[in-house]
Amino acid sequence: MKFGTKAIHAGIQPDPSTGAIMTPIFQTSTYVQKSPGDHLGYEYSRTHNPTRTALQNNLAALENGKYGLCFSSGLGAIDAIIKLLNPGDEVISTNDLYGGSYRIFTKVFERYGIKFHFISMEDPKTIEKYVNQSTKLIWAETPTNPMMNIIDIEEIGKVAKKHHLLFAVDNTFATPFLQNPLDLGADIVMHSVTKYLGGHSDVVMGALIVNDDQLAEKLAFIQNACGATPGPQDCFLVLRGIKTLHIRMERHCQNGKEIAHFLKAHPKVDKVYWPGFEDHPNHDIAKKQMRDFGGMISFVIKGNKVEDAKRVLENLHYFSLAESLGGVESLSGHPASMTHASIPKEEREKVGLVDSLIRLSVGIEDVEDLKADLEAALEKV
Ligand SMILES: *Cc1c(COP(=O)(O)O)cnc(C)c1O
Repeated sequence: MKFGTKAIHAGIQPDPSTGAIMTPIFQTSTYVQKSPGDHLGYEYSRTHNPTRTALQNNLAALENGKYGLCFSSGLGAIDAIIKLLNPGDEVISTNDLYGGSYRIFTKVFERYGIKFHFISMEDPKTIEKYVNQSTKLIWAETPTNPMMNIIDIEEIGKVAKKHHLLFAVDNTFATPFLQNPLDLGADIVMHSVTKYLGGHSDVVMGALIVNDDQLAEKLAFIQNACGATPGPQDCFLVLRGIKTLHIRMERHCQNGKEIAHFLKAHPKVDKVYWPGFEDHPNHDIAKKQMRDFGGMISFVIKGNKVEDAKRVLENLHYFSLAESLGGVESLSGHPASMTHASIPKEEREKVGLVDSLIRLSVGIEDVEDLKADLEAALEKV
C-alpha cells in the first residue's frame, strides 16, 4: 500500500455492528464481561479502546512499524521511553532538541539517577566517545528544533547496533510522510501527534512506533501501568486529521520552499535555516533520508536585535504568534522566550539559537498571502 492509501485505510475497518465508514468514538471507560475474563478483548479504556486501537494501527502502518502506542501528549510518550531505563543508566542525546524534552530529561529523570549527555551528532562518530557500560539509549531529533540541523539516522543506527543501545528518533518535524526512521535503523519512533499528524491545532497527543515484539510489550506495559493514555474523542480527531496528511504535507513543503527562498533573498534577513538549501551543511543527508524538506524554517534578522525580532512577530498577521507547529495555519514563534526558554542561554547559544531567532511553521494557506505578510512585518524594522 502506498502512503496516501495507508493514511486513509491502514488499520481502519468499517464498524462491524453498523457499517459506519468512520471509526466510531467509543466513549466508554469499561466493557461488559459475560463471566469473569470472558470478554471481546476490551476490559478497561486505559488499557485498550477501539478508537485508540484503530489510530495506533494506522500510525504503525505509516511508519512501517508493527506496533503503535498512543499517549496523552508527546511528552507522555517520551516519559514512557525513559521509563524503560533504570537508575544509573545513561542516555546520549542531540544537543539541539525540543525544550520540553530537555526539561523532562534534566529536571525529572536526572533526579531518578539517569544521566544525560547532550552532544552534537552531526558527526555520528563523536557519539562513541560518550558510550560506556551504562549507556542504554541514543536520543535523536532530526530536523532539529529550531536550528533545522539534520542528523544522519542510518549512521547513528549503526553506532547503536554496534554497542547494543536502544535508538529513539523524535520524528515530529519530518512526519512519516518525509522520513521513516525505523527503516533506517531506529528502534523507536516518537511523535508529538499534536503537530503535523493531528494537523489542525485541536489535539494534544503523542505516539511511539516500534517493530520489536518485546519492546512493544514493555512500552504497552508502561502505557497502561503509568496511564498517560489519550481519550477516544482525541483519537478520532487525529484519525480524521491523518486522512489528509499526505496532501497537507505536500503543501507545507511547497509553501516552505517558497518562503525559505523568499527570506533568503530578503535584504533585511541574515541567516535562514532550512534543510532544502543546497548550502545547508547537511543538505546531502537531508536529501538521502527525507523525501522533501518540510515547512519549518528559522531565521535571524540582520543586526541580530531582539527588539527587531519582536517587532516582526508583533506585526505578522497570518503567522500567528503561538507555541506549537504543524497545523494548517501558519504560526510564528520566538524560541528563546517560548518553546526553548527552559534551556539555559549558554546552552542555547552554543547551537546558534540566538535571542533574535524567529521560527516559522509554514501553513497551507495561499503562499502569496504568506509572503505579503512577512514582507509587511519586515518593513517595520
Ligand atoms: C511539541 C513537541 C514535543 C512534545 O509534544 P507535546 O505533544 O507538546 O507533549 C516533542 N518533540 C517535538 C519535536 C515537539 O515539537
